[in-house]
Amino acid sequence: MHLTVRNLIWILELFFPPELPVQQALYVLAVIISLYPLVRLHLNQMDEAYRQSPRKGWINSVYALLSRAFHEEASDPEAWTAGVNVAEEYTEYICRDLERLHTLMGLTENSNLSDPNSFLFRPARRILCTTRMNCKFCPPSHRNLVPSLRRKRHGKSEQRVWLLDSTFRWVSADLVVGYCATCKAEYYLTKYYPDSITKKAGGPGQKRQQVLEYDAEYLRVSKHGVWVHRDIARAQENSLDCFHAGWSNWAKWRLFTEHFSRRLLKFHGKADGFTCNSHPATKILVEAVRKAIGEDGGVIRKALDHGCMDCTHAKRFADEEVGQTDGHATEIAGSEAGPAGPIAPDAAPLPPSLPSALPRQLRPPPGSPRGYCRLSVMDGKSLTHKKCSLDECHGPLYNFKNGRFCEAHLGEYEAKCGTLSCGRLVHSDGALTCDDPAHIDWHKKFVDRFHRLSFPGVQRVIRRQMVETDDIVPRLQIELENLGDTPGGKVAHTFTAKTTYCLQSVQRACGYPIGWGTCYRSESTPQVLSLMNKIWAGFPNLRPGFMAYDKACDLLRHIVTQDGNDLWIASTRFIVDAWHYINHRTTDILCRTRTNPAPTDGSQPDLVITQIDDNGVVHKTRAFNTETAEQLNSWLNGFESQLQRVDMQVEKKNRGLADEFWDEVNGNV
Ligand SMILES: [Zn+2]
Ligand SMILES: [Zn+2]
Ligand SMILES: [Zn+2]
Ligand SMILES: [Zn+2]
Ligand SMILES: [Zn+2]
Repeated sequence: MHLTVRNLIWILELFFPPELPVQQALYVLAVIISLYPLVRLHLNQMDEAYRQSPRKGWINSVYALLSRAFHEEASDPEAWTAGVNVAEEYTEYICRDLERLHTLMGLTENSNLSDPNSFLFRPARRILCTTRMNCKFCPPSHRNLVPSLRRKRHGKSEQRVWLLDSTFRWVSADLVVGYCATCKAEYYLTKYYPDSITKKAGGPGQKRQQVLEYDAEYLRVSKHGVWVHRDIARAQENSLDCFHAGWSNWAKWRLFTEHFSRRLLKFHGKADGFTCNSHPATKILVEAVRKAIGEDGGVIRKALDHGCMDCTHAKRFADEEVGQTDGHATEIAGSEAGPAGPIAPDAAPLPPSLPSALPRQLRPPPGSPRGYCRLSVMDGKSLTHKKCSLDECHGPLYNFKNGRFCEAHLGEYEAKCGTLSCGRLVHSDGALTCDDPAHIDWHKKFVDRFHRLSFPGVQRVIRRQMVETDDIVPRLQIELENLGDTPGGKVAHTFTAKTTYCLQSVQRACGYPIGWGTCYRSESTPQVLSLMNKIWAGFPNLRPGFMAYDKACDLLRHIVTQDGNDLWIASTRFIVDAWHYINHRTTDILCRTRTNPAPTDGSQPDLVITQIDDNGVVHKTRAFNTETAEQLNSWLNGFESQLQRVDMQVEKKNRGLADEFWDEVNGNV
């Protein structure tokens, strides 16, 4: 017997409260159907006649599950008549007649139903179409309306496509494409897809361009009509965050590229105005996105305005707080190292254009704005990527798996001896050197350079070298044999691809990312300065009052030397970490007088908080906690997704800046 509409109406009228919203009624109905296997087990048990008091185990579960189904709905008070929870009542009622209900629906012992779920409502085929109603490009025209979208014909029916839905199941779906008739009349062919809009100017030789739909629910991953629900991309992204899964595992997926292109463009504020050729190959899309964000670095413009309680404080002044000034300029608050010893005789002097001490910070006259200060943190991290083997070339490898050159240099250099000073052709196809035995031999030794080292040996060498070179990035320098008169380390060769040096990033003290840049050969101060200039270009007033950076003294010296009037000198105090300061304060006068992260003499009251305990003892602690920023540093693969997380955290942890804060810093109180 099949369930007919008449039966269904009868069931609904008898068993469901009339005011129950229809989705909820259908949900409960589905639960009733899904309970059939338990009811069958119960009936089977009841048939064991010899039992005096049959056990109620199965039916208790049925009761609990059904009641929960109603409760889930009951959590929405609108769903039930005000104040009265009839869930228990209806559960009781339905349970009493469950067997008959199932019979009525054709669910019986003989129905041979292996999976009662197959009885449930079959979901409709998914339709993929744009969420827009009107043309994105046309201005309002007739009756002041923006032209509505029309359906684009595709043969006789809709286009059938495959869709990987949000439950990781492949289903067949229908794609319906829209177009704008007004655009068409103007000789523009504008097509509206669920994940993009493509546009082609009329006339010969015009390439179709596309703009992305950033909140698209479905992404197309293949020209041949394969689509994927965005939730799958989000699952990828989470696995990247949670399990530190290497992104390269995913990167081959077109889906990853489509999803992350949108996320990156949006967060860098580049979503508007981004176009590329329509239905591009993955490489073309990635290149266009990279170009839009920044080839060797990016700026998150909206971060320049960001402020929260962990990175933005109202300005404080030494004469407002007891005990601020009773310390020492070279002592760090919260550190046990105490004040510095005398300056070493051969200490690096202060550049002549810098005054010997910073001016004292004075409280503004009453009624004028107090102001606020922000701390940003900058550092280099060992996040690198391979690049062309030629030192001066920044190009990406043509073949990332085992290539050595970028596309531009591949043709010329692959056929040449890897010893750059040689210039002769390789001795046979696929060889890396010419036939000079010295070159062949040196290359062989180069290939074998790691073989004599054990893993602990490698670690030891790296640690020693990091201390010797003051290098932040672990890297292994192996001693190589001389080639003729050239010392092994100085031989210019192309036997392997090279690697970028580090990734420089700038974030607020709370961890909110501001910008990043690639350093190709070293973390040099000119590169770091140009990154800072790029990030704050056009927004000098948004520069942070404090910048924490582990090479801040070198950076400041570079800034002062190249331009004594550089705005950075007045706008920002550069501070180092405590460890650096303690080690450097006696041998470098600039470091000693300018970069103390928390001087206890009151010269930087914004960096030190004083508290007096019950015994009248003054305690000083650092005002900004940069731990979050440092933790975040270790996770740059998820750089962009972290940004959203930080945004959420500011909201969630209630660290946003209240109106009272702005009243205080603007002098309104
Ligand atoms: Zn239009
Ligand atoms: Zn913040
Ligand atoms: Zn190159
Ligand atoms: Zn050679
Ligand atoms: Zn220093």
